[in-house]
Amino acid sequence: MYSLKLELKLNNQQRSFLNGCAGLSRFAYNFGLDLLTQSWNFPDIKQTDFQRLVSIEKVFTNHVKTKAEYYWMQKYPSAIYSSSFRNFKKTFQRWRQGLSGFPRIKSKKLGVQFALVLRTLGDSFTVLKKYGIYPVKGQKMLPTSNCQILYRGKRITIPGLGEFRLKRPIPYLCSSQRFTISRVADKWYVSLSLDIERISTISHESELVGIDLGVKCFATLSDGNTITAPLSLKKTKTTPVATTLATKATHWLKLSKLQWRNRNKVLGNRHQGIKTSNNAKKYYQKLARHHTYFKNIRQDFLQKTTTEISRKYYHIPIEDLNLSGMIANHKLSAAISNLGFYEFRRMLSYKQAVYGTKVEVVDRWYPSSKTCSVCGHVQSMPLSRRIYDCGSCGQILDRDLNAAINLTNVPLDKIRMANAEFTPVDKLPVVGLGGNRKQTSNCSIMRDLCKFCVAQ
Ligand SMILES: [Zn+2]
Repeated sequence: MYSLKLELKLNNQQRSFLNGCAGLSRFAYNFGLDLLTQSWNFPDIKQTDFQRLVSIEKVFTNHVKTKAEYYWMQKYPSAIYSSSFRNFKKTFQRWRQGLSGFPRIKSKKLGVQFALVLRTLGDSFTVLKKYGIYPVKGQKMLPTSNCQILYRGKRITIPGLGEFRLKRPIPYLCSSQRFTISRVADKWYVSLSLDIERISTISHESELVGIDLGVKCFATLSDGNTITAPLSLKKTKTTPVATTLATKATHWLKLSKLQWRNRNKVLGNRHQGIKTSNNAKKYYQKLARHHTYFKNIRQDFLQKTTTEISRKYYHIPIEDLNLSGMIANHKLSAAISNLGFYEFRRMLSYKQAVYGTKVEVVDRWYPSSKTCSVCGHVQSMPLSRRIYDCGSCGQILDRDLNAAINLTNVPLDKIRMANAEFTPVDKLPVVGLGGNRKQTSNCSIMRDLCKFCVAQ
């Protein structure tokens, strides 16, 4: 299964309609959260949380929606709030399992301000085609009749919402049941998952490569290749860059400017009857657009790099970076969070299934930069020393290259498989320790599943 995300080309009417839809989704989510937490104050209610959530949805459909003050909800398809409740159930379940924090109230303001950081709190909602066609009662549904057929071209029909124009065409005839519409800065996107399996038939050029990540050079590969991050990512905050867009952007990120804005903004207060100032709105829109611009550069860079690596190499051990520890170092934090190391690993991990690679995470306490890649001698290496000169065998090598080579020779007990994750939750239990390292890669299709390879 994989997904498409396309940008919508909207007129003003459609834009405000989608804003309304996102509003309904937010309203339903907050309604569920509010009623559930309130219900805990009544000891007489003996239902489980899941049963409570079911009855809350019933209350919403049968009582709240019919009230005159909520008449505006009738304009929007009901699939929006039912999927919003479904999302809330999932979030709530994740909290119960200890995988995430307690669900937070969704807010319009947060969505504008931190379009990048708190994207999930911003404007997004899901619609779906609910019913399929059953030719005979009690018999099976007609296949794919509960899916919306999408034709090639620059138009898309979204169930319940109507037809929209797209910035880029749909590449092929396909179908999908569920559509998620989301906003980042001032752009709206539709994303849909397609029920297609991608089977990797790529034969990799090289068997093994170790990757060392760093601030100075984004990635050093053990075969001597290096990958540098785009200049605009590194220099956004420190010095003006030659391109006009980036220079404009540095202006917006000046600390004094931000602090002045923060002091002088008039964000409004509904209870006191103060309206949001137009300058504040404009400022946050511009700031969101600015963050999105750099997010896009980073995303593009990471996508292309990880794809290239996954195409070329089969077995990829990478370091497990202690990112939260590194970000605590305030001199490095901006550079590290700008580069997106975690995103790099996440992308490499989920591309295992697409390109048939094997990504392994090396234990974070393994001394990859301190060890000599030739004789195994361990010596202390402060960050300022860029060259590794071995005190035992006299080997002289670039610091990062030495670390990358070490990553290819790590003992098995220091390795775990990288799991494809959808959210950055490091607390997830580690599944499966690294094994079968000596596997040959003569078979090009689905190596790990191929019976012949495993038997060898
Ligand atoms: Zn040595």
